[in-house]
Amino acid sequence: MGSTDRIKNVAARVAKWHDAGHQIVVVPSAMSGETNRLIGLAKEIMEQPDPRELDMIASTGEQVSVGLLAMALLAIGKDAVSYTGWQAGIRTDSAFTKARIQSIDDTRVRADLDAGKIVIITGFQGMDEEGNISTLGRGGSDTSAVAIAAALKADECLIYTDVDGVYTTDPRVVDEARRLEKITFEEMLELASLGSKVLQTRSVEFAGNYQVPTRVLSSLTNPLMPLEEEAKSGTLISFEEETNMEQAVISGIAFTRDEAKITVLGVPDKPGVAFHILGPVSDANIEVDMIIQNQSVDGKTDFTFTVSRGDYQRAMAVLEAQRDELGYTRIVGDAKVSKVSAVGVGMRSHVGVASQMFRTLAEEGINIMMISTSEIKISVLIDEKYMELAVRALHKAFDLEKA
Ligand code: ASP
Ligand code: MG
Repeated sequence: MGSTDRIKNVAARVAKWHDAGHQIVVVPSAMSGETNRLIGLAKEIMEQPDPRELDMIASTGEQVSVGLLAMALLAIGKDAVSYTGWQAGIRTDSAFTKARIQSIDDTRVRADLDAGKIVIITGFQGMDEEGNISTLGRGGSDTSAVAIAAALKADECLIYTDVDGVYTTDPRVVDEARRLEKITFEEMLELASLGSKVLQTRSVEFAGNYQVPTRVLSSLTNPLMPLEEEAKSGTLISFEEETNMEQAVISGIAFTRDEAKITVLGVPDKPGVAFHILGPVSDANIEVDMIIQNQSVDGKTDFTFTVSRGDYQRAMAVLEAQRDELGYTRIVGDAKVSKVSAVGVGMRSHVGVASQMFRTLAEEGINIMMISTSEIKISVLIDEKYMELAVRALHKAFDLEKA
């Protein structure tokens, strides 16, 4: 929601659903740019803001949104009431700035719904056991919405966002990218954790754990568009795999541009090596993604792993500092690499997906530096300058273009 006009639009959309006889809970995010602004203010005072106080500040954006939206509904004659996360019974742990929802006491909300009210609850936040305000991490209002839908056993959780659904790949990279009408929850989870910014990863985990039918759809359509049309728009995250043969083997090509790889050369090949390399990296709160350890030659081995590019310098520094303990010959790194992944539940029942992927990249002359796989995903690490080419070639090779 970027302006009060947009808030009035949201109110009109919500009223449309309510008029059709649905009970509605709305979970808005802060107004556009607001959370960034609040975090910016905090950083002007404290470079590394105290997490509890940061949550105190960052959570306020949503409080403004819910009040405004409730008023916009009251102004058009709808009975609406707004609550903060804690008023609505959302209990989290105390991991400030990345708290997890532990329980939701929906008594108050249910009573309002039964009385015919539209209930509006702040996304992104809750309260811990000691009564401190907590936030759920950036993009956390998605998770709030799915969690509230789960607690209320809602028929569907609709996530209105600035894209009109989940695509076979990023349409900014591939013109022929196509919106998927349905995607399985597992595929969505892979896409979210691979950096597709459509939904917060944790919200997808929640949807999966509680089997919440969740639909991603556009907030930019005309709020008065016919309800039947809107109800079928976007992409539905489903829990069943299509068994029909028409189902594409691959549902999407995902990528993360900003990766970096680090190789520790000539470490002794003995128990504890991986632990001693990655332990300090993880202690520095750096997430490691792909990992390879080579066959050892003369009792020495090389160990390569990837981190996100933003953590590259820090990860290198951590390893430099461990030089004596680790006893390596040298560390080399490359911060200009990207990861490209093919995702699809169809991989389970089809062979040859990996070889098709490698053939396609070979035909484009793209060198693969690392490979990792899961049951429904194959990822490769490549030079960043070939990333877009790889995505386009794979999108075509797996027949994902518009019909
Ligand atoms: N307002 C929060 C953020 O900007 C939560 C959200 O938008 O989902 O991260
Ligand atoms: Mg969001």
